Order: sequence, then C-alpha cells, then structure tokens
Amino acid sequence: MKSFRKELWFNTSKRREYLNITPQVQDCLRESGIREGLCLVNAMHITASVFINDDERGLHQDFERWLEKLAPEKPHSQYAHNGFEDNADAHLKRQIMGREVVVAITDGKLDLGHWEQIFYGEYDGMRRKRVLVKIIGE
Ligand code: ZN
Repeated sequence: MKSFRKELWFNTSKRREYLNITPQVQDCLRESGIREGLCLVNAMHITASVFINDDERGLHQDFERWLEKLAPEKPHSQYAHNGFEDNADAHLKRQIMGREVVVAITDGKLDLGHWEQIFYGEYDGMRRKRVLVKIIGE
C-alpha cells in the first residue's frame, strides 16, 4: 500500500472565506501516483472547515448568512470562550461545517459527484493556516 501526505497552506484576506481547493487536492493525487484508494482532506485548525458542496456564489452567501444567524460573530462578549480571544463564533461555525472529507479514488481520479467540489472554509482568517491531505491506496 502506498501512502502520501501533504500540507496545503492558506492565508485568507478576510476573516471568513470559502476557497475551492479541488485543484490542489487533484495535484496531490497526481503527485501521489495512487490509482485506487481513499483521500482524506482535513482542516488542521479548530476554526476552519473542509467540506464538499457546490461552487456557487449564492450558496456561499447563504452559508455566511445561515452561520451568522446560528453563531453571530458579534457581540464578542456574548460567548464564554471570548475571555482572551474573539473567535468563539469561528469554533461554532467550524463545528457545523465539519472538519474533514473523505473522497474515493477510482482510476487515478477523485470520484466526486457531478457538482461536488472540495472547499476550505475559513472562519477566523488573515493568518497562515493549513489543511492536511492524506492519500492511501495502490
Ligand atoms: Zn478560540
């Protein structure tokens, strides 16, 4: 069995942002040389997510509005976590949107559904943060 590991680094210009990282994950798969197996992609931070959904701008605005209703960023003082920090909302948003995805690899390709794309969801950005890509198979 082959195994491949790589970290992808991101530094968003805004506090909250969604990045389509499917091309970078495809590059990892190419580099790994693995044709059949599984690909895990996970955020390595507790205020960011990796998830699969549609690459559609309206939907991303809907995510933003929905998450802000569930866990509004402000006022910062509404959260017990915000003693020394101001990112309690980011922890909660990450919890809803998820930590990781697993994608099947078939015939050397990510075996995604037609509209499925892999996203990095940032909820406390403007600093360097990373995503782990781990691929196992043959
Ligand atoms: Zn925190």
